[in-house]
Amino acid sequence: MEKTIKNKVLIEKLTLFFGGFLLFTDVFFLLVAICCDMPIVRYVVYVKLAINTTNIYLILKKHYLASTVIICTVILGFMITGLVCVGTEAAFQLYALGMLACISYSGYLHNRVLKKELPFALMIVIHVVLYAGGYIYARTHEPIYQVSKLGVNILIAFNSAATFGIVILYMVLFHNVAIHSEEKLEKMALIDNLTGLYNRHYLLTSLDRMEVCSPEERWLAVLDIDDFKKVNDTYGHNCGDYILKQVAFITKKICKDCIVCRWGGEEFIILSTLRDNKTDVLDELRSKIEGEKFSFEGNELHITVTIGATNYESGFSSERWISQADEKLYNGKTNGKNQVVL
Ligand code: GH3
Ligand code: MG
Ligand code: MG
Repeated sequence: MEKTIKNKVLIEKLTLFFGGFLLFTDVFFLLVAICCDMPIVRYVVYVKLAINTTNIYLILKKHYLASTVIICTVILGFMITGLVCVGTEAAFQLYALGMLACISYSGYLHNRVLKKELPFALMIVIHVVLYAGGYIYARTHEPIYQVSKLGVNILIAFNSAATFGIVILYMVLFHNVAIHSEEKLEKMALIDNLTGLYNRHYLLTSLDRMEVCSPEERWLAVLDIDDFKKVNDTYGHNCGDYILKQVAFITKKICKDCIVCRWGGEEFIILSTLRDNKTDVLDELRSKIEGEKFSFEGNELHITVTIGATNYESGFSSERWISQADEKLYNGKTNGKNQVVL
């Protein structure tokens, strides 16, 4: 939800930025048209100015789709005017290429945020056709105005800078989207949604990696909340979720040199990552949870946990190591719970 709002603000900012940029180009081209005495360009800029001002109004009224179409139309229209009036030398044709980057990103944002499809393929076809048509026309016809070398150079510099600016801006935006999305997917694949701890998949991958770099002198513990079903039955599922989050938080805090993961349900696995890491930390964890007063919607709860832990023994597979710790946990459960079994 928060992401959608952020993206909506981004759409508004980008469209406004582009609208503002077009107004800026209007002023520039008006000056060029006056200095180089090009009345046709001047009239077109007047029309462009009127459309672009209306466009800013449309953006403020959140008509982003209409605004995107207008922005593309205005830029393409002006590109054709530039090609016909000054010829290919002043590089107006570059705008068609620059706009492809803008269309592609706008298409993405419209789809993701506004759930509306830009007529993407149609817009690209129009750009390519107008680029080719305008370019061929300008190569086969004399330009209407003969602009001085200095004027042409200024136009090339401006048009190239504007096009590069547009392409770089949208490439950076797409780059950020790609990195951000990949990070988010990676996180979703490895993190448990409720507790924020690593999930089973992450733990198994860590164990596999550890097998390669020798896990000697390290231990693995399985922690299970005692009588957790009663918590759910007495105080409700939301309270159960709250307890899971709290136990996860405390475990992560106390076992800071360990990988802590939610193995499933109300079971967690703690894996020491340092050699010679003492299991004393498990006693500390058990007594900390026992002494904690959890309060949920006015109810005060006391929770205990049972922990089974075992050191790595040579030849252990991940499954064997976990099942050894699980057996210890089972012993603890049958011997009265609320204890650490080593
Ligand atoms: P024991 O002391 O023997 O471990 O008993 P227990 O009640 O803790 O264990 P049992 O396996 O009987 O019950 C586990 C309960 O955990 C049952 C299930 O509804 C609950 N549970 C599993 N996952 C979640 C969850 O994500 N949220 C909540 N609120 N409850 C969960
Ligand atoms: Mg259990
Ligand atoms: Mg339990």
